[in-house]
Amino acid sequence: MKNLTLRNITKVCGGTYHGPEELLDREVTSVTTDSRKAETGALFVPIVGERVDAHRFIPDVMEKGCLATLSERLQEGADYAYIHIESSLQAVKDIAEFYLEQLQIPVVGITGSVGKTSTKEVIASVLKEKYRTLKTQGNFNNELGLPLTVFRLRDEDEIAVLEMGISDFGEMTRLAKIAKPETCVITNIGTCHLENLGDRDGVLKAKTEIFSSMKPDGNIILNGDDDKLGTVKEYHGIRPVFFGLNKKYDVYADEIQSLGLKGMSCRIHMGEQSFSVLVPMPGIHMVYNALAAAAIGKIYGLTAEEIRRGIESLEPISGRFRMIETDKLLIVDDCYNANPMSMKASLDVLKDGAGRRVAILGDMGELGENEVQLHQEVGAHAASCGIDKCICVGELSAHMAEAAKKTDPDFDICHIRTREELLQHLGDYIQPGDTVLVKASHFMKFEDVVQTLEKL
Ligand code: ATP
Ligand code: MG
Repeated sequence: MKNLTLRNITKVCGGTYHGPEELLDREVTSVTTDSRKAETGALFVPIVGERVDAHRFIPDVMEKGCLATLSERLQEGADYAYIHIESSLQAVKDIAEFYLEQLQIPVVGITGSVGKTSTKEVIASVLKEKYRTLKTQGNFNNELGLPLTVFRLRDEDEIAVLEMGISDFGEMTRLAKIAKPETCVITNIGTCHLENLGDRDGVLKAKTEIFSSMKPDGNIILNGDDDKLGTVKEYHGIRPVFFGLNKKYDVYADEIQSLGLKGMSCRIHMGEQSFSVLVPMPGIHMVYNALAAAAIGKIYGLTAEEIRRGIESLEPISGRFRMIETDKLLIVDDCYNANPMSMKASLDVLKDGAGRRVAILGDMGELGENEVQLHQEVGAHAASCGIDKCICVGELSAHMAEAAKKTDPDFDICHIRTREELLQHLGDYIQPGDTVLVKASHFMKFEDVVQTLEKL
């Protein structure tokens, strides 16, 4: 890994090197926190977690041929190279920041309340039409995930698309310092993490911290239809590129048509150019995500045809509106996560499904003091958006069910206390031919619901 010698690593993380002199100028071949992935020449980073203290794997990974390890403790009598540091977590951030500086690869950083992963996927799908593109795997978007993504970069990569997720003030500043994005994308300002951020203005403030380490001639890409983002007029002389569904924006879409669960078709306009495109995932939010990708494509010199191809070749990911067709059902696996905004968006798409349209919705977490009201709003939406049945699962979801009943006393709604109870009786609630949306916050572990539905 470019310039990632043990000498440089020791220096950037302010550690003390213990080991043979002759190894100091050797570059490590990879950096890993996972002892199972430790390989010859790697640097092992032991993280102290809630359950496991990875320092205990050090002898094992060194046996496997790692070049060196970090360690928060002095290793008495060690016969291997190690760098003594105060905190592995801090060190991993410092090393990632240094490494990315060595590579000089432009970074597109993506944040926002909802749709970061989905937008990251479309942007990467577009950029790969022209560049060797590395993207965040899955949801590795936090203070550990971001550095680990950076360590996957190699000199041959031409651009990095990095998801950046936060839940408190200051965190984004730290992520931005590592990533130093050339281009910053913010998808929207929603109501996630209000327990730390207070209100949407707090969310806006926390997300726009991403600009703090942006390259001086950088680009800002914002969803103009978001009322909060719409207020961002400039940052240090950089005028944002706005996207949305209005002609007044730099990149906009019209002729929008839902093709049901197959996706969306629309015409994207960017300055003089325009093209029709099929966004292969349903929901108006996917048009927004495609617009962000088109804006990026234009900035990085892709032709309209390349951008169109990139959007159309987007592949679905598990847990995020992935369609699973079984003999009996069409399952919409959207179980990765949920908040009020994305719940409503998914319900609106479900209504275009075939057969009975059934939503299995679970509790949404981290909503702060308004959690009851926010669950009620989703319930009211479920009862009025045109679907056939809603099964609410979990403690807070009782408020969803109650509000749905109030909105439409004839709506087919039920409340089940736990996921386990649901799983026991799932077959009773579902009929062949149903289209079933499965969605809840991550802690509800609704991937089990998807798996059980697949076997029905
Ligand atoms: P996390 O905070 O868990 O990383 P995320 O911001 O990465 O979430 P995604 O995983 O991309 O968000 O999307 C979550 C859900 O939100 C999707 O399954 C989809 O239903 C919906 N969604 C995707 N994009 C948008 C968008 N631009 N606006 C609103 N909802 C969206
Ligand atoms: Mg994500």
